[in-house]
Amino acid sequence: MILKTDKEIVVMREGGRILAEIIEKTKQKTVVGVTTKYLNDYAEDLIKKAGGKPSFKGYNGFPAGLCISVNDCIVHGVPSDYTIKDGDIVSLDGGFFYKGFHSDMAITIPVGEVSGDTLRLIRETKKSLKRGIKKSKIGNTLGDVGNTISRHAEKSGFFICEGLCGHGIGAEVHEPPQVLNTGKRRKGIPLQKGMVYCIEPMLAVGTSETKEEKDGIKTADNSLSAHFEHMIAITQKGPKILTKL
Ligand code: MG
Repeated sequence: MILKTDKEIVVMREGGRILAEIIEKTKQKTVVGVTTKYLNDYAEDLIKKAGGKPSFKGYNGFPAGLCISVNDCIVHGVPSDYTIKDGDIVSLDGGFFYKGFHSDMAITIPVGEVSGDTLRLIRETKKSLKRGIKKSKIGNTLGDVGNTISRHAEKSGFFICEGLCGHGIGAEVHEPPQVLNTGKRRKGIPLQKGMVYCIEPMLAVGTSETKEEKDGIKTADNSLSAHFEHMIAITQKGPKILTKL
């Protein structure tokens, strides 16, 4: 685990803010009739114009700048000629390398008319991220973070997607430690000043099981899944979200 100095966190906040803007702009373009490749190219262009590089491009052979995961696709969705339809839910997951550090965040967007149950999945996934962030303070452990996320997911009747988790981040896009979406209270790594990590709950409607396919990791039963992610720093004053506007 590599702790970051206050100065480094300032740089990561700068990168995180730019990434948040890029994701927000790409969200505005996520409408019926566009392809996921179009959205990716749009975001990659903004990344380049901002003076950064897409963290995921070429990472483990990933071919694009954004992971765009639609409906039953949880994460690692490969942008393609797929055209977004009314009722789809679309996860935009972006990585941005800027001034020596990576930023990473994700949101899930309902497009057009989406059922109340689906909106609830999105809302509860976002809420579980919020809970995880709230627990991210000195005196707590990573177990506390994972525990609150899984308890919230269970309480809302959804499933935590197995085998997928958050991570430390810095000069590398994935650094130790793993930030699990499950955990035991008071167990695991104690949180300390200078830790920077991504929390990314991934919730599904029907199962916690996943399957890996060529174009992304999907729910085993093809039920819908949602994904939200923020990069945060542990500071003396509590958690600081680095990837917000
Ligand atoms: Mg991530």
